[in-house]
Amino acid sequence: MGDGEAPRVKNVLRFVLTTVFGLTLATSVPAAPPEPQGAPPVTGPPAVLTPSTATTMKRITDAALASPRAWELLAELCDDIGHRLSGSPGLDEAIAWALARLKAAGHENVRAEPVQVPKWVRGEESLWLESPRRRLSLLGLGGSIGTPPDGVTARVVVVADEAALEARAAEVKGAIVLFNNKMPPHHPEKGPGYGDAVRFRARGPALAANYGAVGVLVRSVTARSLYTPHTGATSTREGPPPIPAAAIPLEDAELLSRLDRRGKKPVVTLRMGASDHGLVPSANVVAELRGGDRPEEIVVISGHLDSWDVGQGAHDDGSGVVMAMASLDLLRALGLTPRRTIRVVLWTNEENGLRGAFGYAEAHAAELASHVAAIEADTGCFEPVGYRVEHRDPATSVEAVALMETLLAPLAPVGATHAELGFSGADLIPLREAGVLLLGHHMDLATYFDFHHTAADTLDKVDPAHLAQNVATMAATAWALAETEALPLRTELAP
Ligand SMILES: [Zn+2]
Repeated sequence: MGDGEAPRVKNVLRFVLTTVFGLTLATSVPAAPPEPQGAPPVTGPPAVLTPSTATTMKRITDAALASPRAWELLAELCDDIGHRLSGSPGLDEAIAWALARLKAAGHENVRAEPVQVPKWVRGEESLWLESPRRRLSLLGLGGSIGTPPDGVTARVVVVADEAALEARAAEVKGAIVLFNNKMPPHHPEKGPGYGDAVRFRARGPALAANYGAVGVLVRSVTARSLYTPHTGATSTREGPPPIPAAAIPLEDAELLSRLDRRGKKPVVTLRMGASDHGLVPSANVVAELRGGDRPEEIVVISGHLDSWDVGQGAHDDGSGVVMAMASLDLLRALGLTPRRTIRVVLWTNEENGLRGAFGYAEAHAAELASHVAAIEADTGCFEPVGYRVEHRDPATSVEAVALMETLLAPLAPVGATHAELGFSGADLIPLREAGVLLLGHHMDLATYFDFHHTAADTLDKVDPAHLAQNVATMAATAWALAETEALPLRTELAP
């Protein structure tokens, strides 16, 4: 995000800092504090799930569980196209593929909505421990600058967190700082420890540069590793002049940490060929199943089409993309016409800029008031749990949880009946201020961060049964949202 976007950036800074481009959720983000200009209290009709809606949801669920459609789409996206970082040929191919598939399915208003996205190219990269000399593994962080062609050779100073960095400040000038912060394992109640640990990937390079570091290594943001580095976006837009930054696997972080603790003063040579190519054209992909009664009212179902430049982006977020596509296909194939319009949006540039999300909010500013709900699936593909619910008005958020628990009851056969307050999805951030009900498609996240943003995020990690369960959940929930009288949750829109 350039300087010209400063006011908008300021407006959403706290969300972007929480989500750090591509974080997508994990730990619950508490409901936002009351806004001074908050939405009026809700006085709409009570939340009722009609027998006819419940019956149709059952029909949708049964059909989804029997359909191989989403799996077939995901195989095409992963195996025929592969990874698709913003500005890459892979993303352009994926956009063309999605348009062709959505048109072939007979959907309405299928279109590419252009936005500009950043193009960052990784280039060649390597990391060597000088003594004892051995090659280490790495993945440069998205947005990082490159090194000079010969690389940067420097002593490694290992710190666990901000306080440890300050304690060793005198050693940092001219050194490469390793942030060896351990992400806690998945907790049954608290969920993954990603939300807290990811800050070193996002802000570690700027922190270390403040003390005169010449490079940064970050322990990969995961609790488990089979020698896999995890990439992700880092922030280079604030603070001191940027320094090169890369993630290393847990095993190499521990090795460097042991050497440092034993007084061995490890020295490494970091080479990164990363380069920034400015902004290039891209697009969100949109398709609709038009509503019968109230076509102007919109329920969005979505995932993001871009991915990191390693692996296949199968879980992140190919699965979310095909859940939305297959849901629309299924509803149309069943011959269903919802009261409201159900709109698929496949976002571009979630991982390193959110320009698709902000571009959509700008292009659709005039109709955001008639967006009654928006779902994003961007936490991989596992057993569905239900939805995380967000609304800019805290009281409405609480009512929305109750509404969703009512609407999700027919999803008991797939286990997706739970609603709770929490972060919905990074691409939904720009819709929040418009008062749209935001829903994060929520799954069991016990293993998601084992392969998030790695070369191991490939189709073999996705269970076709889980994918079908998630399509059932998304399609049936979209149906309920498009049919239910109690929506939208805003007095100014109540009929
Ligand atoms: Zn994602």
